[in-house]
Formats: sequence, C-alpha cells, structure tokens
Amino acid sequence: MESDVVVVGSGVGGATVARELSIRGYKVTIIEKGGYHKLGTARRALNFYSGSLWNFCPGELSKEGTEVLRTIMVGGSSMVTLGNGVRAFQTGFKAMGIDLDKEFDEAEAELGVAPLPERLMGERTRRLREASEEVGYKVKPMPKFVDFDRCRSCGLCVLGCRYGAKWTSQKFLSEARRAGAKILTETSVDEVIHSGGEVKGLKVHKESSGASEINAGNVVLAAGGIGTPIILQKSGLENAGSNLFLDLFVNTYGILNDGHMEEEMGMATVIDELHESQGFILSPILDMFLDMFLYLPLLKKLRAFRRDRTLGLMTKIVDEDVGKVNPDGTLSKPVTESDRKKLSRGEEISKEILLQAGVNPKSLYTTKVRGAHPGGTAGIGRVVNTDQETEVDRLFVSDASIFPKPLGIPPVLTIVAVSKRFSKRLASEYLKVKKAAPETKPSIKR
Ligand SMILES: Cc1cc2nc3c(=O)[nH]c(=O)nc-3n(C[C@H](O)[C@H](O)[C@H](O)COP(=O)(O)OP(=O)(O)OC[C@H]3O[C@@H](n4cnc5c(N)ncnc54)[C@H](O)[C@@H]3O)c2cc1C
Repeated sequence: MESDVVVVGSGVGGATVARELSIRGYKVTIIEKGGYHKLGTARRALNFYSGSLWNFCPGELSKEGTEVLRTIMVGGSSMVTLGNGVRAFQTGFKAMGIDLDKEFDEAEAELGVAPLPERLMGERTRRLREASEEVGYKVKPMPKFVDFDRCRSCGLCVLGCRYGAKWTSQKFLSEARRAGAKILTETSVDEVIHSGGEVKGLKVHKESSGASEINAGNVVLAAGGIGTPIILQKSGLENAGSNLFLDLFVNTYGILNDGHMEEEMGMATVIDELHESQGFILSPILDMFLDMFLYLPLLKKLRAFRRDRTLGLMTKIVDEDVGKVNPDGTLSKPVTESDRKKLSRGEEISKEILLQAGVNPKSLYTTKVRGAHPGGTAGIGRVVNTDQETEVDRLFVSDASIFPKPLGIPPVLTIVAVSKRFSKRLASEYLKVKKAAPETKPSIKR
C-alpha cells in the first residue's frame, strides 16, 4: 500500500477529502469501519444504525438517556439524511479567517442543491404550511440535495434511498476511486501512532484478520463527531471529546379524526425565522413506523398504526455543547435548562400549528429528546487549528467534530464546504512540501 494521505472514515468529511485529493493526483487510502449495505427497509437499517434493539431504539444512548442517531457504513450518516442542504455558520467561519464562499458555491453545484419543488410537497406538508401561515409563520421550501426526477416520495429517506435520488458520500467515493483512491472496508481504526510530535501511522483491526499497523505520513480523521474523538483520546490527545452537541430535536404529533395521507418526503419545508432569535427551527416530519412503535408508551403504541392520519413537526434546536464522548465510546449529553426552554417553546408553537391544521387536541404528543448531528468534539480553537491540524504534525481532522459551535441546522453542506477548503490547503501547503521529500511508503505490518 502506498499513499500520500490516509483518510479515516468514508462519510461526508472523509469522502469529500478523498475525492478532492485524488482528483488532484494524490494517492489516497480510505479506511472505513463499516461495509456496504442494502438500503430502504427498517430491517436492513438495523444493520447499519449504531444502536441496538436492546435499547429499544436504533440509536446509541447517552448516560442521561438522550438518543444519538448515526450510522456505521460506507458513506457514513450521509446515507440516511433527509437531503437537507443548507449553509451553516458561514459568517462565524469568516470571522475566524475561514472564507467558505467559493466552497459553498461549489458544494451546492456538485450536490445539486435546490428548493423542494411544489409537485413533491405532499398533503401533510401543504396542510402544515397552510396552518403555519394562518397562525403567522413564514414557511420556506427546504433546499435539498435530491434528484427530484428520481424521488418516489416514499418517505423512507432515513432508511437509505433505494432509488439513488439523494446525494450521498458514496457518489464522492466513486469519483475518488475512479481517480485512483483505495478503500479498505470493515477496518476499524483504533489509534494514531505518533512520536516526536509527528504522525507515523495507524493501529487498525479487522474482525476477519485481527490487528495490524499501517504506516502513514499524513492522516485525516473523518470518523464523525463521535468516532473521531474516540480515536484522538485513545491516541493521547486528551483535549478531544468534550463540547459535544447534537442539534437536539423533538417531534410533536397530532392525529386527524379521519382521512388518509400518502407517504411523502420529510422536512420538505422549514420555518427558520426563530433560529437567530430563539435558537430553533420547525419542519414537517413523520417518524418511521418502527421508531414510533418502539418509543411510544405501551398503552399508546396503537398510534404507530395511524401514521396515515398523523401530522408532525420537528423542533430542532441549537443545543448547549456540554456533552462528552469518552475514550471507551460511552456518551454523556445532558439536556440543559436552556435546551429544555427552546424545545418547549418549539413544542408550544408546533401544537398551535397542529391544532390549526385540525388534529384532535386529545391526540397531541411529543417524542423523547434525540439528536442526529454529533459535532464539536475536536473543535477549531480547542483541538485543531484553522488548518484543521492537531497538536501532532500532519494529523488532521475534517468532519463534524471540528465545528467550533453548535449549529442547530443540518450540517452536511457545511462539512462538504469545510472539507473542500481543507483539502485545497492540504494540497497547496502541506503535500507539496512532502512531495519534495523522500517518498514515504506506507506498509501493513502484522
Ligand atoms: C437520520 C439522519 C438524518 C439526517 N439528515 C440530514 C440532512 O437532511 N441534512 C444534513 O445536513 N444532515 C443530516 N444528518 C446529519 C449528517 O448525516 C451528519 O451530520 C454527517 O453525515 C456527519 O458527517 P461526518 O463526516 O462528520 O460523519 P459521518 O458521515 O457519520 O462519517 C463518519 C464515518 O466514519 C466511520 N467510522 C467511525 N468510526 C470509525 C473508526 N474507528 N474507524 C474507521 N471508520 C470509522 C463511520 O462508519 C462513517 O462512515 C442526518 C443524520 C441522521 C442520522
């Protein structure tokens, strides 16, 4: 094995870095813990969501009981998104000297971001939009990285799109592979090997063949907001793992007395006017049957069978970054007083909209608190510098971990933009120098 750069993780950050570097002629090897999976059913999804049915939910649980959703697979959590593609924290990054204007333009063009067209807005979305406007909120179509001609409105985005309608990291991985990148799947990175303040390689293991070591002169960690800080801490970088945020959310539901609504794409619209002032957004949502069935209390489980009459709104907040990822993978994520206030305010407005839309007042309920955007755990200014380099030379991070602050809105487009900028800087500032030096030849030692 010979590579200029070893990238750990094939999700949004990892696939972007691998693609950007390999199309510029650099040799890239991607090491991915998960494998390839068939998509589109709840049973299949249980194989790649990181939780276990023992928890009665598809996600992992923090010690306080907050559910964290992410996947372990080729393409990472990009495989299960709702295709929402929004710019986040652009001015914040600019104030830190990180100008992402060009990279956001590139990312939007390459992912094909466009507002969801009217023809794909289903009955739920339209009813909720009408009711929201009646009670005084401005509803916008959600920008999506979805090929609308391929979308069948099956409503199963979070189980992985079997029609290939959604942009996923696998698209960037294919381009990287066509440009020569290699991917090792089902190979977990345990630790970074470094000495004298310089990166030397990685300790990895594979179920089938056990532990091994890989030499590497440049390592980019992109194992996600939970995977990356575990590796960093096991490698002795103890400042990683704190400041975990999740963009916490709750869904508030109400059931109509009659009618039948077809499945449709979730989060088709957004109310974002309260994001700046009150720290949350609202968007139409309908959980999968299995999810609903698992989280509803015993006497209310029948509600999961009434999805065709259910209207729902998600409140997604800018939560406090007070969580912690521990080196053994356990998580702590308290829901703070400030988080609860934002969630309650969102729930209150959601109920007002749902009642306006005609749901039965007795049917209103709100789900437990969950989060699906883990980040902040190797933040710029805390664990990495503005070049995304850690205290170890040539050990970089490029995924949701590097966000200096919680976002409260979908992060994929911003991770792509940040990873593009990072890759360009890596190529121009670091790899050029390295190319002039004697070639490092990574090898696997058993
Ligand atoms: C249900 C759901 C819906 C979502 N919808 C949206 C949306 O519509 N829009 C949006 O912007 N965001 C959405 N998100 C969030 C988004 O998917 C994530 O924020 C994003 O994928 C994070 O990118 P990342 O590169 O940080 O990590 P990931 O994409 O999760 O990639 C991390 C990769 O590292 C691998 N890995 C982990 N540990 C190791 C290890 N030790 N060794 C090797 N490999 C490892 C994982 O298998 C994975 O492939 C959603 C998330 C979920 C769960």
